[in-house]
Amino acid sequence: MFTAGNYVVAKSLEEAYQLNQKKTAGILGGMLWMRTGKRRYSTLIDLSALGLDGIKETENELVIGAMVPLRELETNETLRTYYGDAFLEAVRHIVGTQFRHMATVGGSLFGRYGFSDVATIFLALDCTVELYHAGEVPIETFLAQKPDRDVLVAVHLKKTPCKVCYQSQRITETDFPVLTCAVSRQESGWVFAIGARPSIAKRIENTLPYAPTAEEIAAFVAHADETLSFDSNMRGSEEYRRHLTRVFVRRAIGQLMEETR
Ligand SMILES: Cc1cc2nc3c(=O)[nH]c(=O)nc-3n(C[C@H](O)[C@H](O)[C@H](O)COP(=O)(O)OP(=O)(O)OC[C@H]3O[C@@H](n4cnc5c(N)ncnc54)[C@H](O)[C@@H]3O)c2cc1C
Repeated sequence: MFTAGNYVVAKSLEEAYQLNQKKTAGILGGMLWMRTGKRRYSTLIDLSALGLDGIKETENELVIGAMVPLRELETNETLRTYYGDAFLEAVRHIVGTQFRHMATVGGSLFGRYGFSDVATIFLALDCTVELYHAGEVPIETFLAQKPDRDVLVAVHLKKTPCKVCYQSQRITETDFPVLTCAVSRQESGWVFAIGARPSIAKRIENTLPYAPTAEEIAAFVAHADETLSFDSNMRGSEEYRRHLTRVFVRRAIGQLMEETR
């Protein structure tokens, strides 16, 4: 468990950002990952008074605040309207309901965890991450960067019409995933995000047309894993992850084509 010298409920994002510039300070999300470490923080910065715990709908976007708990991603009706069961499927295996009431979107993305279901689902969608200092950054760029001293404020999901399929493989229910796969199909094309490789989710480069032929699908699936790197760990070998990637990609293409038939 971590320890801390000071605890501050930030009154503004500017205050949170300034306090966080000290290397020994730390921003609090749901504290579930932080509490697994033994760090000594000089100041803990609480964002809970800044109104970041809601999902707001604007004309073109859904804006998900950094303090929104994973349970809200799972149950929110607006998300369900735009993305079907994709968010529910992405987070429902994470530990347990009480845990998902506490773990936050901000903490989940800022940590850039290799195993993250949360990073995988957002990476398949048209979205940006709003940082207090750096502004809005495409999710792909954000996930590839190392954590710095910025404050994650919100995720902006563009209301681009799309269908989404989420799959993960686990050795046992609620364990960390062996592989995660999120696929979205929008008019501009397909986006494939593969996570738990076991490193952080990445997109598969692709030029798959919106309505691919059987031959184009077969050719894409055969090489789906080749633009990404995979590794082995205690949960699965590199070869198993490559195999799962091809299986999940084929399944997702089939499912999403069926849904829009
Ligand atoms: C036992 C266990 C099992 C898990 N299994 C899974 C799983 O299967 N799939 C999955 O996807 N995830 C899993 N997770 C991760 C979990 O879902 C959360 O992603 C994780 O706990 C971080 O969220 P948090 O809100 O607790 O963040 P915290 O632990 O509070 O913070 C995490 C880090 O992010 C920083 N931070 C938090 N909020 C912000 C912000 N707004 N701006 C800047 N920095 C910020 C903190 O300073 C800290 O460095 C697991 C975690 C645990 C402990």
